[in-house]
Amino acid sequence: MTFKELGIIEPIQKALEAQGYEQPTPIQEQSIPILLDRKDLLGIAQTGTGKTAAFAIPILHHMYLDRQKNHGPRKIRALIVTPTRELAIQIGDSFTDYGKYTGLKNTVIFGGVKQGAQTSALHGGIDILVATPGRLLDLMNQGFIKLKDVEYFVLDEADRMLDMGFVNDIKKLIANLPSKRQSLFFSATMPQDIVNLSHKILGNPEKVVVKPEQTTAERVGQSLYYVSKKDKPKLLTHLLKTEVYDSVLVFTRTKHGADKIVKILSKSGISAGAIHGNKSQNARQKALGDFKSGVLKVLIATDIAARGIDVSELSMVINYELPNVPETYVHRIGRTGRASASGVALSFCNGEEKPYLKDIQKLINQRIDVIEEHPFPDDGTEVFEKASAKPQRRPPKQGDKKLGKREPSGKSNVKKKTYTLKKRT
Ligand code: AMP
Repeated sequence: MTFKELGIIEPIQKALEAQGYEQPTPIQEQSIPILLDRKDLLGIAQTGTGKTAAFAIPILHHMYLDRQKNHGPRKIRALIVTPTRELAIQIGDSFTDYGKYTGLKNTVIFGGVKQGAQTSALHGGIDILVATPGRLLDLMNQGFIKLKDVEYFVLDEADRMLDMGFVNDIKKLIANLPSKRQSLFFSATMPQDIVNLSHKILGNPEKVVVKPEQTTAERVGQSLYYVSKKDKPKLLTHLLKTEVYDSVLVFTRTKHGADKIVKILSKSGISAGAIHGNKSQNARQKALGDFKSGVLKVLIATDIAARGIDVSELSMVINYELPNVPETYVHRIGRTGRASASGVALSFCNGEEKPYLKDIQKLINQRIDVIEEHPFPDDGTEVFEKASAKPQRRPPKQGDKKLGKREPSGKSNVKKKTYTLKKRT
């Protein structure tokens, strides 16, 4: 299957070629015909599957054809709402890339920065708006944005949106949308509250479910270090000095914790950047840019800030603190080993975090291998683990045979890979 065979217009085909996209990914192959047919879509898929192009391509396709017939002033005819600034920026960039021969204009709005540049862009006239919910409502309330012309509405990462407490904002938004529109709803998971929300947004949707080729937990080599809270900085410094890696993303639970680690590492001569919600947007973009370009090898991030990070070559994820929501663990380790490349995830666990570990292992249906031989073992916890997992002598490296195995009863959903995802630049 090619984009041409899907019936995509020439200017978009040309742009996709320039991106090096040779064929549609499974979610694109399934969603594009539905969306070209102007039907509503419920997509159950994660970031990393090519979902942005799955919705951006048909929207650009329709809008380009419509604009050939109607040359009036630009109006916001497509609205994409996504939970984080980083995702918003990436989606905006994708629209620019895929739409570069269509003459359609997009802009991105998000909080945490002055609104002047954003309101000027809106004033200049745009066709496609990519926004985070808070700033969008804010600019609507100030009269800078009207949604009465929206024909295409995308709610991206709906589950994350709810986790981040945006539910009321989303409801307010929906109330302002014209009832005649095409709606697209994407979520990685479908708990009941997401199902309920989807009913409020979608008409009679077609459903597309795209499982990752392998579960993240199978794809990524994972290991665990039992270490006391006070020794975590030392262990992190030790690993960053002894392990071989190109880029490491270190997760902390708090913004304050992230800054503290940067300082500790810097004292040991390791330069690292931090990205979290208290940093200015410019500082976040700079740290992310330096990390993506390889200037910075270590980035410390909180979960929310890391949401939009798409670095294909990320070699390692370190969970400096275990997350209390097990799904977050899967999401974090999925930052490495993207697009079916192998990856490595190391996790630190102190006594208090053992209940989190239990939940995580239950969710991924596997035991995480324990590294016993490290300079800062936490003696008090070893007894617990000896009974439950086979110890390992060294952490896994990229390219090692994967450590995680499914339970014999589990059905494998490994599919043969037939396309290559390109690194976002
Ligand atoms: P997404 O799930 O939208 O975040 O996309 C994940 C990555 O896949 C991005 O870096 C895209 O540039 C890339 N990608 C999307 N569609 C294709 C395609 N058809 N062929 C190759 N790479 C793609």
